[in-house]
Amino acid sequence: MKKCKICDSSATAMTDTKTQKIYHKCLTCDYIFLDEVFYVDMQREKKHYDKHHNTFESLGYVRMFENIIEEFVLPCKEDIKCTLDFGCGEGEVLPILLEKNGMTCDRYDLFYFPKKVYEGKKYDLILSTEVFEHLQNPLEVLNKLLLHVEKNGYLLLMSAFHPNNDDAFLKWWYIRDITHIGFFNLQTFEYLADKLGLTIIKHNSKNIILFQKREV
Ligand SMILES: [Zn+2]
Repeated sequence: MKKCKICDSSATAMTDTKTQKIYHKCLTCDYIFLDEVFYVDMQREKKHYDKHHNTFESLGYVRMFENIIEEFVLPCKEDIKCTLDFGCGEGEVLPILLEKNGMTCDRYDLFYFPKKVYEGKKYDLILSTEVFEHLQNPLEVLNKLLLHVEKNGYLLLMSAFHPNNDDAFLKWWYIRDITHIGFFNLQTFEYLADKLGLTIIKHNSKNIILFQKREV
């Protein structure tokens, strides 16, 4: 039995009979993670991302970020001047939209903007969209990111909340992406908020959640 990467409890295994992939599901925090033997290597991962066309030419993609800014960022805008898009990808759509709304936005991406611009800096808001499902050690990354969030600052994550049902999970389109290796749901995020001193400000029950770092 594997230990959960989020809460260290025991996780039970389930096998996808279509792909023979093994997933481990935590019964405490609901985090589900792909067994490490099924990870793809970094070269293949990069090749996969190069196929994404997440640019201003993709209107649906742009609109999605406009909606996120309107629903999740602008209501807190008085507190937010300085932001970081962690795992921004190639197209810089979200950073440019944030800048149009009067905020600054640093870019970081393991593959496309690898310079660690956030070192020695703190932000009013860190956004990480469609990143956490790709991470081998999400808790480690989250802890690191929180060091760069100001007191009372915000963290916005976007990663599809998994259906909390084994059959539905194994039929879910989101697990078909070969680079998706970890899956959260609201309960996982609630567990993380509690553990890391965060308050959940807002979520859409689907794929987006906004946390605020509590003052300590
Ligand atoms: Zn867990």
